[in-house]
Formats: sequence, structure tokens, C-alpha cells
Amino acid sequence: MEIIPSIQEPLREGERRWNVLKQIWCGFNDNSRLRLHDHIMISTYYVLKAIKSGRLKPGTNIREYLGLPKDIIVYMDSGGFSLLNRGMLLDIDPQKIAEIQQGASPDVAFVLDYPLDSRSSCNTIQKLLKKNHELAKLFLRLYRGSRIKLFGVIHALSEEDAEKEVSFYESLEVQGRTFDGYGIGSLVKRKNNYRSILSIVKTVRKLTYKPVHVFGISSMKIIYAFAKIGITSFDSFAFLRAAMYRELILPQILKRIKLHNIKHGKRVMSSSIPCCCPMCLKANSLGGVKYYARKGSIPSAELAVHNLIVIINEVKLINEALANGWFDDLLKERGLEQFFNDLNI
Ligand SMILES: [Zn+2]
Repeated sequence: MEIIPSIQEPLREGERRWNVLKQIWCGFNDNSRLRLHDHIMISTYYVLKAIKSGRLKPGTNIREYLGLPKDIIVYMDSGGFSLLNRGMLLDIDPQKIAEIQQGASPDVAFVLDYPLDSRSSCNTIQKLLKKNHELAKLFLRLYRGSRIKLFGVIHALSEEDAEKEVSFYESLEVQGRTFDGYGIGSLVKRKNNYRSILSIVKTVRKLTYKPVHVFGISSMKIIYAFAKIGITSFDSFAFLRAAMYRELILPQILKRIKLHNIKHGKRVMSSSIPCCCPMCLKANSLGGVKYYARKGSIPSAELAVHNLIVIINEVKLINEALANGWFDDLLKERGLEQFFNDLNI
């Protein structure tokens, strides 16, 4: 299983902040062997926004624009969720989204989709599913002959619907083009309903051999479940969001610790960070907790890199435990045995 760090708005990051974050994909020194990760998720919504504001020319290769090495695997979502949240989804021309994606030239692109809301009527849900099916066919046609891998996005609110949807997407072929993998959407609004999320994710995984990516869910508990189920990847923005709130993910306990307003926090840290990543070595030489809690974009970006290092290491640990037969021991050590039993994973 792979974590795909999601950078929602790299095109708006201040240059100094982006230069810190870029170290994740370009290496902490000129020596690229010190690179932390080789995947990144970019949102079509923010590329669209940058084109509209004139900051980016249409057709600009996004990897080159961001200064990322050629072998970094760039994923590009469709921006559907962001467009929906801003009330812009219905007005967008789907062909425009495919055009922007193709111009940006990622390695993997996702079909534009309409997320479902469990509070909607059955009629509305059926209409949205139908729209998603039409978009899936349209994107397969628009991507014929393209070297970009195209992932369909599966939406379902129940296990039964998930079965029907996978069967539809797996049988879809337009002018010789089929999907190279799938994303699972519509889970964010149910992010605390683990039972419902896992039943859908498990069903999709069971019914296809293609790569399966889960959108927008990355809490530590559920990452363990995704790994056990055999999910290929998930995206996460948590490392950046935590840093924006000046929260440090503590590697030893995998909990967020507030670094600002520490008097009101439940756990208080006052001096050095118990971590030896390149960011914390620097932070500890400049005041540790106080350095990360400072105002300004650089400490915040460095804190984000530390947070991502913690999550990446945890994913590596999970993968190793699964590959070498000690995943159940790890679950016990992480206190997750009961969680797994309750959800019958
Ligand atoms: Zn660190």
C-alpha cells in the first residue's frame, strides 16, 4: 500500500514554503537518494483556478512547472469534490477537465465524478450514478490513445450498490479503452462510519484485480484496515493540515500534539522534539517546539514534512509487517486488535 501525499494548492504556495515541501520529492540535498517519496496528488481544481487567474498557461506540464523530477509519479484528481463544495460542479464542462488534465500530463488521471450524499433521495442518487456512468464513457473516449493511465471513480452508499458499480465499470470499454484502476469516492462525509466505509472498500477490492485508490480518508486506524484489505493507495492531506494548526504528529504514539497555545493542550511539550528526521534536527537546534510553533511559512512547511515522514514510516512498517507475517502482532502493539475484531476485518 502506498500513501500519496496530496498537495491541494501547490500553485499558490509561497515560493519559500513550496521549496521546503519540494524536498519531499526532490531530496533533502542535491543527492536525490535522500528523497522521501515518489508519489504526489495534484488537484485539477487548483490547476483550473491557476489557469483562470493567468498564473498558469493551459497545457503547461505540471511536473516541470513544479520542478519535480521526471520519475515522480503524478496523480491528478478531477477536482469534482472541490467543485461540488464550491457549488461549481454543475457548470463545469467535463471536456474542459479532461483537457486540463491532459495538458498537465500526469501519470494517472481520475474521471470527473459527482460525489453522493447519503441524505439525498433515492431518485437523486440514481440520477448522479447515471451521470457518473456517462462521464466514465466520455472520459474513456477522450483518453483513447493517451499514455496517461485513467482511473474510474466508484461511488456507492452500500455494499450492494458497490457490487453493481464495480460490475458496470469493469465491463466498460469504449473504442478499445478500459480503465487502468479505480478510485473510491463519496467516503469523506461518512469518515467516522468505519463500518460503512470498510464494507464498500472491501467489496470493491474483492471484485477487481486493478489498482484501487481510496480518496480522502487517512486516519491512522483506518490505514491499517485498508492495508489488510489490500488497497493499493490512499491520499492524505493530514500532514499539511496538522501543520497549519501547528500540530506535530508524535511518531512514538502517532497522536497529534498542539504546539501553539500549549498551556491549554492536554499534552504539553516544552523543548526538544523526540525525532531525528532532517526537519526536527534543524528545529531542535533552533529551539525545538518553540521553533515549530513560530509564525511564518517555513517552520509550518518543515513541520508538515516531519508529519509526512511519520505517516510514511508508519505505512512502511505496516507493509513490512504484512509482507513478513507479523501484522497481527503489530495490531496488538498499536492497540487496534479490538477495533479490527469489532469491525470484523
Ligand atoms: Zn521529525
